[in-house]
Amino acid sequence: SKKQGRNRIQAYSSEMDEASEQKLALENGLRLALERDEFEVHYQPQVNMQGQVIGAEALVRWRHPEQGLVSPGLFIPVAEESGLIHLIGERVLRMACRQNKLWQEAGFPPMPVSVNLSNKQFEQPHLIETIREALQESGLEPKYLDLEITESMMAADANNAETTLRRLKQIGVQVSMDDFGTGYSSLSYLNRFPIDKLKIDQSFVRDIAHESSGASIVATIVAMSHHLGLQVIAEGVETQEQIDFLRDKKCDLVQGYYYSPPLPPDDFERYLQNMARS
Ligand code: C2E
Ligand code: CA
Ligand code: CA
Ligand code: CA
Repeated sequence: SKKQGRNRIQAYSSEMDEASEQKLALENGLRLALERDEFEVHYQPQVNMQGQVIGAEALVRWRHPEQGLVSPGLFIPVAEESGLIHLIGERVLRMACRQNKLWQEAGFPPMPVSVNLSNKQFEQPHLIETIREALQESGLEPKYLDLEITESMMAADANNAETTLRRLKQIGVQVSMDDFGTGYSSLSYLNRFPIDKLKIDQSFVRDIAHESSGASIVATIVAMSHHLGLQVIAEGVETQEQIDFLRDKKCDLVQGYYYSPPLPPDDFERYLQNMARS
C-alpha cells in the first residue's frame, strides 16, 4: 500500500542518516585526534632470508581515549573522503622520518622505513614538498625513506603518476608497489615506472600452504621481479611452511606475524636489540 511504501522510504532514509551521522562523528573525531595528537605509528619488521631485520613498515594507529587503539582500516576511508588524510598522512610521514633518524642516532644499523601513501596524497601536487620537508626537518637521508604506492594510483592517471614517481626518485627516496596483484594490474607499469620493490599481497601468500594457484602466482611474481631488477617482499607471512616456500623461490624479504606484528616504537627497539643478541 501507499502507507507501507512511505514507511519503507522513511526507514531507508533514516538508515542513510544514521550512516552519514556516523561518518560525520568519525570525521569530527579525527579532527579532534589531530588536535590532541592521538595518532601513533607502529612498525613491523621486514626481514631477509637470513632472519635479519633490514627495514620496517610504518602503520598508523589512532589511540582513542575511550576506545583504545583504532585500526587504520576503520578510519583511513573516512580520512580520505573528508580530505583529512593529507594532515594525517603528513603527520605519519614526519613521525616515521623522525623515529628512523632517532634509531640511527641510537646506533642501530640504518634501514629504510616504509610509509603508506593514499591515492589522494599521491595525486596532490604538494606531495613532493611535504616529503622534502619531512626529510629536512628530521635530517633523515632520503634513501632511508621508502614510499608504498598501489597499482590503482598508476591506473588513475599514468602520465601524472610517472611524473610524480620521477620526481620522487630525483629526491632519492625508494618506492615500493604495495598489494601487488590485487589492483588493476598492468605489467607494463613495472617497466615504465621507476619502482624499487614489489610487495606480494598477503592473499597470495596465505594460499601458499594449500598448494593452490597461490603458490604458482607467488613463484611467478618472484621470478618476474628479479628479471626486472626489483626486490621482492612477501606480506602476511605467518607460517614456517610459507617461509620455506619463499626461501626456495628466492624471495628477498618477508613481513608478517611469523616474525612480528606491528610494534610501538619502544617494542620495536627491543625487538631489534633481541635480534642483534640472538
Ligand atoms: P597494508 O599497507 O597492506 O598493510 C599491511 C597490513 O597487514 C597491516 O594492517 C598489518 O598489520 C597487517 N599484517 C601484517 N602482517 C600480517 C600477517 O602476518 N597476517 C595478517 N593477517 N595481517 C598482517 P593494518 O596496520 O591494520 O593496516 C591496514 C591498512 O591500512 C594498510 O594495509 C594500509 O592500506 C592502511 N594504512 C595503514 N597505515 C597507513 C598510513 O599511515 N597511511 C595510509 N594512507 N594508509 C595506511
Ligand atoms: Ca603497505
Ligand atoms: Ca600491503
Ligand atoms: Ca592495502
